[in-house]
Amino acid sequence: MNALERLHLLQAGDLPVHGGRTLAYVYDGGDAEVDRVGREAVAAYAGSNALDPTAFPSLLTMENELIGFAARLLDAPDTVVGTVTSGGTESILLAVQGARDSRPDIERPTMVIPSTAHAAFHKAAHYFGVRAVAVPVGPDFRADPAAMAAVIDDSTVLVVASAPSYAHGVIDPVSEIAAAASAAGVRCHVDACIGGWVLPYAARLGRPVRKWTFAVEGVTSISVDTHKYAYAPKGTSLLLHRDAALRRPQFFASAAWPGYTMLNQTTQSTRSGGPIAGTWAVVTTIGDGGYLRLAGEVFEAVDRIVDAIAAEPGLRLVVAPDSTLVTFATDDSCDPFTVTDELVSRGWYVQPQLAFEGQPASVHLSVSAATRAHLDDFTVALRESVTAAREAGPVVVDDDVVAFIAALDPAALSDAAFDGLLAASGLVGASADGSLELPSRMAPVNAMLDLASTAMREALLVAFLDRLSRPSTGPAA
Ligand SMILES: *Cc1c(COP(=O)(O)O)cnc(C)c1O
Repeated sequence: MNALERLHLLQAGDLPVHGGRTLAYVYDGGDAEVDRVGREAVAAYAGSNALDPTAFPSLLTMENELIGFAARLLDAPDTVVGTVTSGGTESILLAVQGARDSRPDIERPTMVIPSTAHAAFHKAAHYFGVRAVAVPVGPDFRADPAAMAAVIDDSTVLVVASAPSYAHGVIDPVSEIAAAASAAGVRCHVDACIGGWVLPYAARLGRPVRKWTFAVEGVTSISVDTHKYAYAPKGTSLLLHRDAALRRPQFFASAAWPGYTMLNQTTQSTRSGGPIAGTWAVVTTIGDGGYLRLAGEVFEAVDRIVDAIAAEPGLRLVVAPDSTLVTFATDDSCDPFTVTDELVSRGWYVQPQLAFEGQPASVHLSVSAATRAHLDDFTVALRESVTAAREAGPVVVDDDVVAFIAALDPAALSDAAFDGLLAASGLVGASADGSLELPSRMAPVNAMLDLASTAMREALLVAFLDRLSRPSTGPAA
């Protein structure tokens, strides 16, 4: 078997990227020709390096055209500038880093975020020493602008809103939040990583979309992921700033060594041209009219999925979606993690969300345009999954395990203790040859994690990833 044959064999064990049935992690526009163009562009530029725009000017051209396209979508003023990053997390990291470094006078900087803000903001807090002040959202899962305004103070370098939030798919009241930030002279970042490329088209289709773009005064930067609803290959997001002065602290230059003067506007230095060219090729091929049509398709799918959930007595929509993300919860008749496993076993990958701040566990669906072709199948799979979950009964976590986990301080646990916990939780088992085996059904694991503290969830999953990520002796070694 040659390398490519082996690669395809390995890939067969992964989630499908195409087909519209994988409702997290991937986004499918459903056009095989567009996908082919994207793949060819990635391949053609896989060896090119966007580190130096004078050496690879074609990549600079493509980046500037992508920012220009996004600027129109986001109602940006003529002063807008932007950067192509590797993904939503990097765009958010840079927004936080830039905000921090715009205020060197503040010794202990903070940022005010809604409690529903993406975990990438907590990562940025961790990396850059900017404390995140997370403000509880309202009963509609939208940020509470008055509560956020009340905690903006002299240490605040950034205020954040989502359009929409990942977990619930609703748009925060951006106008009020940005006004509060502006009144305090503080930057306001809108995380439109998942909504930025689709909400402008939703508005053009006549759907109700509250204001969230640069048209809102006080919004200083916006992140939008092209590797989500621009249906581009993985590896790009855009970070736009209202003007060049706002972006300036993001640049890094170093002549403090004997090599080339390093000059970067992202966390990466060498940057593959592949994702940039792939994104440019897909955006150019689909074009504005194509995205409008795809938005029509994805919202048709969203509406049908909402109806299918409403028609299931065991399920309830957590909140009416503002965008393309649907979240449902279950009643006592069926377990949400079992419904998840049952949908997965029927070829529908959906994502479980653990209980958080008084809200019960839920199930997340990022709907794609390509999902629309399979809605009858989805409705049947959902009905069957609820029935199967009802018949399977509740997932019972052993009382001793619950008490054990509640009593443990994750910070004080040894590696050996984590080995024991991982085995007891079912997260990892050992197969006959001694290698780790992933669980086939996640419901028992999720039920256990659901009862654990946030610190214990994080520690257990870190230990899990640590055990997975170990050298092996395949053909590459
Ligand atoms: C996906 C997402 C991110 C993070 O993006 P990555 O590309 O996964 O790094 C941030 N915010 C929101 C709202 C998202 O949906």
